[in-house]
Amino acid sequence: MLTDNSFCVGQRVIMRKPHACGADEWVITRTGADVKIKCTGCGRVVMLDRGAFMKAAKKLLTEVNENEEQ
Ligand SMILES: [Zn+2]
Repeated sequence: MLTDNSFCVGQRVIMRKPHACGADEWVITRTGADVKIKCTGCGRVVMLDRGAFMKAAKKLLTEVNENEEQ
C-alpha cells in the first residue's frame, strides 16, 4: 500500500501481486481520479481508481529519494 500520494506519470511501481506474465513492475501512464498502469513485461494496460491503485501497489520506484519510506 502506498502512503505517498505524489506519484506521477512515468514512474515505475511494484504491485503486490505479480502480473500473470510474471512481471511485477508497472509504469504509470495516467494519474487523476483513475490511475492507468502498464505492465513492463507484456504491455497490458490496467486502469484502477486511485484508492484501489494505492492499495494494490507495494512500492513506488523513484530516482528521487525524498523520504525514507520503505
Ligand atoms: Zn504483464
